[in-house]
Amino acid sequence: GKGHLYLENAPSEVRELAKTCNMMLSRLSESWEKERQFVSNISHELRTPLAIVHGYLQSVLRRKQNLTETQKEALETAASEAETTIRLLEDLLELARADSGHLHLKIQYYVLNDIVAEVVEMARQHSNRLIKIEGGNNIIEVKTDYNRLKQILLNLIDNAVKYSPANQPITLSIFRQGSEVIIQICDRGYGIPLQHQSRIFERFYRVDEARNRAGGTGLGLSIVKTLVEQMGGNISVRSKQGEGSTFTVSLPV
Ligand code: ADP
Repeated sequence: GKGHLYLENAPSEVRELAKTCNMMLSRLSESWEKERQFVSNISHELRTPLAIVHGYLQSVLRRKQNLTETQKEALETAASEAETTIRLLEDLLELARADSGHLHLKIQYYVLNDIVAEVVEMARQHSNRLIKIEGGNNIIEVKTDYNRLKQILLNLIDNAVKYSPANQPITLSIFRQGSEVIIQICDRGYGIPLQHQSRIFERFYRVDEARNRAGGTGLGLSIVKTLVEQMGGNISVRSKQGEGSTFTVSLPV
């Protein structure tokens, strides 16, 4: 199996040791698989009833005229919390799927410029922010899964919007570098202190819970990283507190 030791020609003590190590590895990967399955099942079981609750809340809210202001506010809060939780469960399902290698990526050649233009247009409408594209003059081809790359870029732009002041621009740069295609998302926002930079790609990791009222689960970047890596690419961050952040995605050509 993966990561197992094969030492047939080693002295017998070493072979015994290798056997024990291999047994431990198998148990570890079994329990990892069980945990993944557990998260996946629970997310699935919770999502359905919650979607029903959310549906009922919406239908009551549609008949607002029968409600007092206080009732309306309470129902709106409940609906919004239900929405956030449904999104969290969907993120967990997505991660469980990614861990099991069942993402079924559809990798094809695309013109990166088109994908970026489409994503930026969506983000502009959604956020009302100034989002610039740089380096789009040359046609750049990329081997990727169309929808997943859109999801990756929307997530990174969404973060840039969330973690920077409304009057600051966001820039998307695309260019070729050797055998790679580089996409950079740059904001002039709050930045990320150095000691957190290596950890923000971990599941549920958020820099500052207090400042981060801006909704969010801390799962976005871990999903982005998993997706990028499944496409054979890489993601990194460069940031300075108070000046802004640049996320760099590189994909094979
Ligand atoms: P979420 O945004 O839901 O909290 P993410 O996984 O997308 O989760 O991001 C993890 C954390 O990394 C965020 O909580 C935030 O602290 C930090 N972060 C991500 N993007 C940026 C950015 N562009 N500028 C500053 N901080 C960021």
